[in-house]
Formats: sequence, C-alpha cells, structure tokens
Amino acid sequence: MLKKDFKIFDKDYVYLDSAASAQKPQVVLDRLVHFYQNDYANVHRGSCHLALQATEQYENARHIVADFIHADFNEIVFTKGATEAINLVAASYAKTLKKGDEVLVCVAEHHANFVPWQQACVQSGATFKTFDVMDNGTWDLNDFKKQLSKHTKLVAVAQISNVLGVQNPVEKVVQLAHEVGAKVMVDAAQSVTHLPINVKDLNCDYLAFSGHKIYGPNGIGVLYGKGEVLTELKPYQFGGDMVDKVTIEKTTFADVPARFEAGTPPIANAIGLAEALQYVSQIGWDKIQKNEQKVFAALVSGLKQIDEIEFLGDPDLKTGLVAFNVKGIHADDLNLILAKENVCVRVGHHCAMPIHERFGVKSSLRVSLGLYNDQEDIKVFIQALHKAIGFFK
Ligand code: PMP
Repeated sequence: MLKKDFKIFDKDYVYLDSAASAQKPQVVLDRLVHFYQNDYANVHRGSCHLALQATEQYENARHIVADFIHADFNEIVFTKGATEAINLVAASYAKTLKKGDEVLVCVAEHHANFVPWQQACVQSGATFKTFDVMDNGTWDLNDFKKQLSKHTKLVAVAQISNVLGVQNPVEKVVQLAHEVGAKVMVDAAQSVTHLPINVKDLNCDYLAFSGHKIYGPNGIGVLYGKGEVLTELKPYQFGGDMVDKVTIEKTTFADVPARFEAGTPPIANAIGLAEALQYVSQIGWDKIQKNEQKVFAALVSGLKQIDEIEFLGDPDLKTGLVAFNVKGIHADDLNLILAKENVCVRVGHHCAMPIHERFGVKSSLRVSLGLYNDQEDIKVFIQALHKAIGFFK
C-alpha cells in the first residue's frame, strides 16, 4: 500500500525480512540529508547558532520518542540499538546482583535479551533461569509462576518474539514480577513496528527497541527507564557529556538521561528516528494493522496449503511474522531459490538458538512483514516457495 514512499521498491524486490531490518521511507532519508546539509553540529557543547539548533532538534527527537511510547522526556535514553539498551541495564545489574539473586528470562528471547542477563549472572554469581513456552508459541505462565521467586530481581521478556511472533501478555508478567519485587525489562524490538506501545499501561521498568526496525536509520536505539528506576542504574560508559563535575579526586554524574549518553551521541540518527516515528503516526496504527492483518492472513493461508510445512508455534496466534521449516528440505536450500526470485526472507536461528532447540530444530525460515507489504508480495512468495519445494522434492 505504501511502497511508493520507499525508493527501494522502484526495483522489483519482494521484501519479507522487516523483522531483521525495515526499509526506509524517503521522508526519513530526506530528513537526514536536510539535517546534515543545513543544521549539523555537535550537541550540548557549542553555543553557535548551528550547535544550538542541532541540540534543539536532538532533544526534540527525544520528546517525539517519548510521546510515541507514552513516556516522559527524561525517561528516554538514546543508544545505538536495542542490544546496547539492554546491555546498559544488564551491566548495571551485573554490579548489583549477588549470589542467591535470580534473573528470569523467557526461553524464546533473542540473544540480545538473553546473553547480557546470562553474563550479568556469571559476573555476579546470581542464578540465571528461564521459563518455557507452550507448543503453540504462547508463554507457559504456569512455568513462569514456578520459576519466579522472592529471589527474582529481574525478569526480561520480549513483547513479541522474533521467532514465535505471538503478542505476549506483558502486563500480567509485570504484575506478577512486581509482586515479588522484581523489575521487568521489555524487549520491544519487534513489537514496536506492529502495535502501539504505552509504557504506562505496560507498567514495565525498562523497555528497549531499535530505530532500524521501525523505518528509522541504523545506529540508533532507545532505552526507556521508568523515572526513579532509571535513576538507580549505574552509568554504563564514562566520558564527555555524562558528568556533572570532574576533579582529579572524583567525578559526579549528570542527571538522567544524559548520565547514560557518554560521548557524542548518534545525533542525526535520533532525528531520523523521530521522523520515522512521525511517519508511522501519520499513517496511523489502524491503517497499518488492518493492512498487516490482511496480508498476514494471506501468508498463513498460503503456507497452510503446503502439507510439508512445520510451523514453530501456531501460525494463527502470530502477528506480522512466521517461522517454519519444510519437512525434508533445509531452509538454506529453499532460500537459494527464493533469493533467485528476488524474494528476501531470513533463514537461520535468528539470534535465538534456545527457542529453536526448544522446538527441536536448528534453524527456520522466517517471513516477516512491514507496512509496505501487500497481497502481491505474498502471491510471489508463495509461488516461489512452491517452486523451491518442487525443485528439492
Ligand atoms: N530483540 C529482538 C526481539 C530482535 O528481533 C532484535 C533484532 N533482531 C534485537 C532484540 C536486537 O536488535 P538490534 O540488533 O537492533 O540491537
């Protein structure tokens, strides 16, 4: 529906890999060029017109991001991506967790919301625990309750897994975690492109996402931290712009969020991200979701007609992405044929090995949608998939 906004689709790509990274609308590219051509300078430092202008635009981007997820302005930290946002929080926990404390994550987490917590436990002597999913791909809430304890200090979960695609009941888990005094990190790297996020409703303590998956530039991400909770975190990196006062004896740190943005930040990328969020808001979630549901239904219906397909989880419970294998054919082999047909999908473990192991497979083929995908894309993909299966049968 919106392909015209994306120059890349002037060429004949069927792009079904937006869960890995989304294409960029021209308005975002134009915004970046305009900023570099007209307004560029470092932020929070100079006092010339350009420096003030750049600072204003950078901080305005923070307001736009905050509004987009219903946060307050000073609850938004710019990072280089979701991975860095999660590492920032995990590095602080690595310093404060103790032996006997526990961190609980879902087995379906992307490595970005799994390994940093595992490492924080290795470094601190705390215990790293996981909870399971059901065969249909939904969270096993009984297992979650079993694993949660008064020792749990942090729960880390994705709102939508990049393999299972299910919209998870984050509010419920936040409530249960808070009852035992644990904080909750929500990985919104996938969900941010499929549904409106309201951190106040979620009541989570931290939330992370990347700009590049929501039609923004690479190299920019967001960490949301709830008011007081963010203030309690230890600084992640040290250097310019994150300090209050530096003497030979000691350093005191700036208030949040500056405390977590050491060095020159990704200025243009933050401004580009804000443009992308405005682009999404202008189209509106209603229109985006209606189109996505139609296109996704066509995708699932086409896949279900292929007997050899084995889904990871129930395809009818998914939002915007589906992962599967074709019995007897390696996903890499299928991808060779799909690539020849100009169809871009993702094959592998999608940086989520534990959930593949949980389903007894090493890899899968993942198809994921962006707001630009249409029924024609699905038609071409399903035809190409039939061709690929026919080739290897
Ligand atoms: N979490 C999930 C669910 C993801 O899908 C991804 C990206 N594939 C990440 C975290 C990490 O995002 P990034 O690589 O942009 O830091």
